[in-house]
Amino acid sequence: MVIVMKQNASPEAIERIKTKLESLGCTVHPSFGANYNILGLVGDTSRIDASQIQADENVDKVLKVQHPFKLASRHFHPEDTVVDIEGVKIGGGNVAIMAGPCSVESEEQLMTIAEAVKKSGAQMLRGGAYKPRTSPYSFQGMGIEGLKLLKKAKEITGLPIVTEVMSTETFDEAEKYADLIQIGARNMQNFPLLKRAGRSNRPILLKRGLSATIEEFLMSAEYIMSEGNRDVILCERGIRTFETYTRNTLDISAVPIIKELSHLPIIIDPSHATGKWSTVEPLSKAAIVAGADGLIIEVHHQPEKALSDGAQSLKPEKFDHLMQVVHKMLALEMNK
Ligand code: PEP
Ligand code: MN
Repeated sequence: MVIVMKQNASPEAIERIKTKLESLGCTVHPSFGANYNILGLVGDTSRIDASQIQADENVDKVLKVQHPFKLASRHFHPEDTVVDIEGVKIGGGNVAIMAGPCSVESEEQLMTIAEAVKKSGAQMLRGGAYKPRTSPYSFQGMGIEGLKLLKKAKEITGLPIVTEVMSTETFDEAEKYADLIQIGARNMQNFPLLKRAGRSNRPILLKRGLSATIEEFLMSAEYIMSEGNRDVILCERGIRTFETYTRNTLDISAVPIIKELSHLPIIIDPSHATGKWSTVEPLSKAAIVAGADGLIIEVHHQPEKALSDGAQSLKPEKFDHLMQVVHKMLALEMNK
């Protein structure tokens, strides 16, 4: 942290701030120039509240040098984290494919899709039982019945399950059924939910918030990790921009940037990224080339009848084609 003092700050005021900072456990290196007086802080600055320092009338600005996330930072954990979900490895150069419907709608619907994605080579089954819908009048998900169907689909296909949890009240129940618990974009900064996820023994799939910066995204991962759960998988699923042709804009740069900043795996959701099935294959290819650790893709055998997100769902034959393309790319090591 670097503190730039105001030009008219007196030597006494500078000394007072320096003493305060030292009492908080760091070493302060002052540099006095013709125009600026600067205090350079070395050591653990985690106990320093930058906003309090900024509030001092003698302070011009406070510049942060270190990232505010620690447990999620590659700086303190240089090797990639690899999350193992019943043998499916996510992170460290493995590309895992999760696929399934947006929502669990019925036994027939889920089993049809689960068997199709398994046949095409998906390694995990996705499906929402609790749905975050913009309108309270839209289908809200099957709840516990949906979780039971997911369990049944797992018994039939052997595919581990990823499903979203929206509240702390339903967390205990979902934990019994899910192999990977999703925290959706809208809940990325639901701090009580993040803390509960941090006390879970299940890995967490954390999706980037609609308007979240990469730093805010990593700080949400930090919330989970600071409670003890280190198995966090990040998911870029498109962010809000001025573009209206697509539902969101896929921030593909989040993949290499997060890989620089963090050791956590980062996967791409090309379905929610644009809201259009026709862009799912090209964006999946882009994700693999950018180095993503996996994809989560919505598939529906009757998208025109889907109760949510039909327009972005691939039909099973299109998903099968995509899987062939993905396997060819991985054989050519295009993700390296
Ligand atoms: C979903 O996965 O169906 C979903 C609602 O995702 P997001 O939170 O990214 O919108
Ligand atoms: Mn969806």
